Amino acid sequence: MDPSDLRSLPKVDLHRHLEGAIRLSTIIDLAREHEVTLPGRTPEDLAPHARITRPVSSLEEALAAFGYAQGSFRSYAAVRRIAREAVEDLAADNVRLAELRFSPGFMCAPAGLDWDRAMEEVLTGVAEAREAGNDVAVGLISIFSRDYPETAEATVGFALRWRDHLVGFDIAGPEVDYPPDLYVDLVRPLREAGIHLTTHYGESGPPEYPRRAVELLLTERLGHGLSVSRDPAVTDLVIERGVTLEMCPTSNWLTHGVAAVAEHPVRDLLRRGARATLNTDDPSLFGIDLTHEYEVARDEIGFADDDFRAAVRNSLEASFLPPDVKEDVRARHFAWAR
Ligand SMILES: [Zn+2]
Repeated sequence: MDPSDLRSLPKVDLHRHLEGAIRLSTIIDLAREHEVTLPGRTPEDLAPHARITRPVSSLEEALAAFGYAQGSFRSYAAVRRIAREAVEDLAADNVRLAELRFSPGFMCAPAGLDWDRAMEEVLTGVAEAREAGNDVAVGLISIFSRDYPETAEATVGFALRWRDHLVGFDIAGPEVDYPPDLYVDLVRPLREAGIHLTTHYGESGPPEYPRRAVELLLTERLGHGLSVSRDPAVTDLVIERGVTLEMCPTSNWLTHGVAAVAEHPVRDLLRRGARATLNTDDPSLFGIDLTHEYEVARDEIGFADDDFRAAVRNSLEASFLPPDVKEDVRARHFAWAR
């Protein structure tokens, strides 16, 4: 690999929210089509309102910025466009395997869209981008948002209905006061149906939360899992069970998961044998892409070439996409990570 050119390096992103991956120019176009007024008419003018580029002072501040993205799902055509462009942007960043996740409850709420029809549009948007030559293997994950508790059963039903077109299920949203214990019954039918599980734990919550997500929910991957590094017993548990950590350095800094990017535990976890990975979370919201996260890992976290290789091998192994798809991607793009 050439560490001075991380943009052309083939990459994997396992943790990217569709709702956090909408181009600002698209947010503006969609608002104009639907005659909605935004605080800016150009991406430059909108950015200070719709982007988070310094650590947030409150959750409300982050949610307000996210509201512009959420409000963009105004029609089925908008859903299709957002999905198509998300894949185009992955290809432009040389991401060759990606898992895109979205919460039907969160995404469909503002315009009252039908979840199943929205899912069809997501699938069509992804297919259109791939047919146009964007060489990205894409898996879709449906999310239950903890702050939309009334959608819990419906989201599980959605995942079961669409199981042939989804690669996994996620539990996300505010973490503190929403311990894994609450969701044991919720995930049981998913496990019985063989649906892969990742959960957002250890992002803002104590190590106890990821520990219980592993022990009680049998989560295969943790969204962030930052606090795993704060308790040696939980670090050991995650290593023993082979749980993958979907880490997102810039996101973790902007939401106060770490005081500075340089203090991010991803490199040390990798070197201890944890299955840590590098991801973006919400690239448009933060004004980043995966190349940026790789550069941050190299320049601020101290990644050596072998750390990148280990992280990408972890991502390929932990991806919920079918083995034959992963093998094809590995053979065509990831000789560098062997
Ligand atoms: Zn996330």
